[in-house]
Amino acid sequence: MTTNNTQQPEKTTHYDMIAIGAGSGGLSAVERAAEYGKKCCVIEVKTIGGTCVNVGCVPKKVMWFAANTATQINSAKGFGFDVELKNFSWKTLKEGRDNYIKGITTWYDGYLEELGIDYIHGFGKLVDQHTVSVNGVEYSADTIVLSPGGEPAVPHVEGAKYGITSDGFFELEDLPAKVAVVGGGYIGVELAGVLNALGSSVEIFCRADKLLGGFDPMIQDALNKDYANHGIKLHHNIQIDKVSKEKTLHTNKGDFSGFDVIIWAVGRNPMTQHLGLENAGVDSDQRGFIPTDKFQATNIDNIFALGDATGRAPLTPVAIAAGRRLSDRLYNSMTDRHLDYNNIATVVFSHPPIGTIGLTEAQANEQFNQVKVYKSEFTPMADALLDHKTTTALKLVCEGDDEKVVGCHIMGHGADEMLQGFAVAIKMGATKKQLDDTVAIHPSSAEELVTMR
Ligand SMILES: Cc1cc2nc3c(=O)[nH]c(=O)nc-3n(C[C@H](O)[C@H](O)[C@H](O)COP(=O)(O)OP(=O)(O)OC[C@H]3O[C@@H](n4cnc5c(N)ncnc54)[C@H](O)[C@@H]3O)c2cc1C
Repeated sequence: MTTNNTQQPEKTTHYDMIAIGAGSGGLSAVERAAEYGKKCCVIEVKTIGGTCVNVGCVPKKVMWFAANTATQINSAKGFGFDVELKNFSWKTLKEGRDNYIKGITTWYDGYLEELGIDYIHGFGKLVDQHTVSVNGVEYSADTIVLSPGGEPAVPHVEGAKYGITSDGFFELEDLPAKVAVVGGGYIGVELAGVLNALGSSVEIFCRADKLLGGFDPMIQDALNKDYANHGIKLHHNIQIDKVSKEKTLHTNKGDFSGFDVIIWAVGRNPMTQHLGLENAGVDSDQRGFIPTDKFQATNIDNIFALGDATGRAPLTPVAIAAGRRLSDRLYNSMTDRHLDYNNIATVVFSHPPIGTIGLTEAQANEQFNQVKVYKSEFTPMADALLDHKTTTALKLVCEGDDEKVVGCHIMGHGADEMLQGFAVAIKMGATKKQLDDTVAIHPSSAEELVTMR
């Protein structure tokens, strides 16, 4: 049944599959199920497309492209161009970005209609194992998919309300002159890089002694060095005690003031609090994440969970892959179809970007007896003629006699595009020798990955 998106299906509607949350995960599951002829419905309380499209990957990458352009204009002098960055309109950028996103979300309406998927706008809550209520109307389904994603965390400190989150960053109407980014994880690092390149004065306050906790130390060190060299002030081992109205941060290392904007980038919480999990007997952990097995199954046999709300690899392609595989398994007889969470490549859109897959050197040493590491660090040719140079740092982590590549870590221009192809090889079990047997592309930074000794 196809309904107009603004209409509510009748009260007694029964579906093969209902997804709560129309983000990357929920949409993928119902799209694939509908392709198999199943009757599906997706429920969304905010905007179709979820975090990635509206307040995540997509607007973030637009901002990253803008920041890169600013950097390239500044770099042009080194290549003999007589150019100067005279003006930049944040308003024009925001307007273009918002319109671009509106185009994507509007497209979804027609797409869902074409597939015969019902879209219901409202907050979905489990009533029991087979029933979901939205806006006071109940809908039932054989299969329910929980894909509510997450929302930015705000710390429990006095005055936290004087800061904004990544959601608020995308609402800013002007480029702030001076910004405090609290948090050294990937979202903090990305927003700091964008703002710095576009002309804000940026300081990062992070709890640990390095940015990007959990990443390979080579990446952490290279990024710390690069951000510091490019004018971002880094404060490590910081604990925020209080924020005052004038946007002063009171910390264990003293007070820091003069900020126009404070951005909390201190993690994300799953949106499972009011989902009615208890009504259907669905388990969640202490933080609210929904545990799932390799088939995305919760402890209730017809209820599955996908994406960020499961607490595993919070990335758009992960949520999409898990959703598609779930419907393949349920509705297309692919009985063992599931997502393998090992060796998932990920990129941090910092300046320069970072790409990483597999184990860090420390993780490999914990798991294997025989680990060999290949490293290289250099100034990329792209920066050779420039005053402000960046670092390119590469590392391969190999294991065993045949030196199977179990980790690959890259920071540098092009790392974001460079990693995808290497990820295929690593997922297929490539060894160092197989990389070495591949003839290099020259001159490039990527060639280092097949020539390291
Ligand atoms: C700033 C930022 C940058 C990011 N950049 C990247 C990136 O570059 N690459 C990448 O791979 N990932 C990135 N991510 C992560 C990515 O956005 C998420 O991993 C992905 O969106 C998760 O998909 P999901 O389906 O689990 O949840 P979401 O996309 O969050 O979708 C969940 C949807 O469910 C809705 N919802 C919640 N509860 C209910 C309810 N009870 N009833 C109805 N609707 C409900 C929410 O409103 C939301 O729209 C970024 C995230 C952020 C915040």
